[in-house]
Amino acid sequence: MHAMSPEQRVRGHELILVSACLLGIACRYDGKSCPNAKVNAFATRGEVIPICPEVAGGLPTPRLPAEIAGAMAGLDGHAVLDGQTRVLRNDGADVTEPFIAGAQAALTTARRLGIRRAVLKADSPSCGAGRIHGGRFAGSFVSGDGVTAALLKRNGIQVSTEETLPGGEK
Ligand code: SF4
Repeated sequence: MHAMSPEQRVRGHELILVSACLLGIACRYDGKSCPNAKVNAFATRGEVIPICPEVAGGLPTPRLPAEIAGAMAGLDGHAVLDGQTRVLRNDGADVTEPFIAGAQAALTTARRLGIRRAVLKADSPSCGAGRIHGGRFAGSFVSGDGVTAALLKRNGIQVSTEETLPGGEK
C-alpha cells in the first residue's frame, strides 16, 4: 500500500478517477447518465475526480454510439492504442482519434493529481475494464478493456468498474 501524497489527500481520502456518468452526469452517448449508489458514496466523501473520456476527447453529447472494430475477434482498447484496430461509430465514421485523446486526457488528469485508482463504467468502449461490448447493437459482451481503461492500466493505475468494485452494485 503506497502512502498518499499531499495531492492525493482530500479530507484524508485517496482521490479516485471516476466515470462521470456513474456520478449522474448526463454525458452518455444517449444524453443520459447511469448513477451508481456505491460510486456516489465516494463522491459524498469528496474522493472523486469525474471524467468522461469521450467528451474530454471532443465528442458531443448526445452522440451516436461507437464500438471497437473486431471486438468479437478479441480486439480491444489495447489493440486500438497499438494501431491494430479502430473505434467506429454506428454510422461507420472513425472516432478513434477522439477516443484516444479522451484516454490521454484521463491519464493526464490522473498523473497531475497523483491518482492511482479508477472506477470506470462497465462495458463501455472507452471505460469498460475486463469486459466490453462485442457488438453494442447485438447486445453481446466480450473480454477486454476499453481504450481509456487500457491506457490507464498500462500506466500502472488500478482500474475497476462499478460491477467489480468491492460491495459495488449496478
Ligand atoms: Fe463517458 Fe465513460 Fe460514461 Fe461513456 S462510459 S459516458 S465515456 S464516462
